[in-house]
Amino acid sequence: MKLEYEVVPLHTKHRFTIARAGHTERYAVWVRLSEEDGPSGWGEADPSPYYGETADTVRAALEGCRRVLEVARDPFALQEIEAACLADLGGAASARAAIISALYDLMGKRLGAPVHRLLGLDPSRAPWTSFTIGIDESEVVRQKVREAVVDEFPILKVKVGTDLDEEILSIVREEAPDVRLRVDANTVWNPKQAVSRIEALESFELEFVEQPVAAHDIDGLRFVRERSPVPIIADESCVRATDIPRLVGAVDGINIKLAKCGGISEALRMIHTARSHSLSVMLGCMVETSLGIAAAAQLAPLVDYADLDGAALLADDPFSGISIARGRVHLSAEPGLGVFRR
Ligand SMILES: [Mg+2]
Repeated sequence: MKLEYEVVPLHTKHRFTIARAGHTERYAVWVRLSEEDGPSGWGEADPSPYYGETADTVRAALEGCRRVLEVARDPFALQEIEAACLADLGGAASARAAIISALYDLMGKRLGAPVHRLLGLDPSRAPWTSFTIGIDESEVVRQKVREAVVDEFPILKVKVGTDLDEEILSIVREEAPDVRLRVDANTVWNPKQAVSRIEALESFELEFVEQPVAAHDIDGLRFVRERSPVPIIADESCVRATDIPRLVGAVDGINIKLAKCGGISEALRMIHTARSHSLSVMLGCMVETSLGIAAAAQLAPLVDYADLDGAALLADDPFSGISIARGRVHLSAEPGLGVFRR
């Protein structure tokens, strides 16, 4: 198969700030694998600097895989390709995710079936997805919540972890009294502070709290969970399937992202590992185009919570074929990932 890729800047509609950092520009890398005289499979890498990835590390990781991919003649040899690339890819999870997505896209196109059908999944079973409200000034928050209300998102996920939490959540409840509300502290609290902050925010009727404490602090997560009136979900503490067993008892569920774990195959391993430990499963994303979201969304029927708004945060989404309407992800019935470059 022939490997091609392209680094593209992604622009968000609004500046998007979380407790850890704020960005206005990010990069995605579009990967295309094509067979001679055959269809092309597309995948997207959405590198996160928090996990040590940039467009340059993705590029280097893809070059490291070039030979394995160019020798491979068959996208159905996915397990073999993944194993061969693993040694070269190391921690380059988003690069790996892009390759795996492109292979699945290609398999679906070869068979004339959407990826969710190859996986035996019914897209109507996907949960509603939330829309994320970043940390911002009151009037910006109010405007974003109003936009989400107009778009009929039934669930909002609000970034917390600053002195503005109560003010932001009050605005959200004023503008959207009936939405389901989740919060994400992105690692910034210490365990005792997390317990008191969650108690202080509980009156806003929270569905769950994502990653209240530092990623490495599993005992801290356990401390918070034992005292928290709302469920605790691990995001930064849970990168891949091997992280799950030590989180048992410390959290109520985990958040899976393709760009964090390394793609559809690892995400499937994570879902099954979490289920075997009676943990709930959330499917999240980075800021991504519809190409990246489409790959994650294929797995949505398997999870309890979805947070697949990455493309909805973009000012310009170059791919079509998947849409979110009223918080519902609509997957395409077209073969593969079912997305097309506009
Ligand atoms: Mg999170």
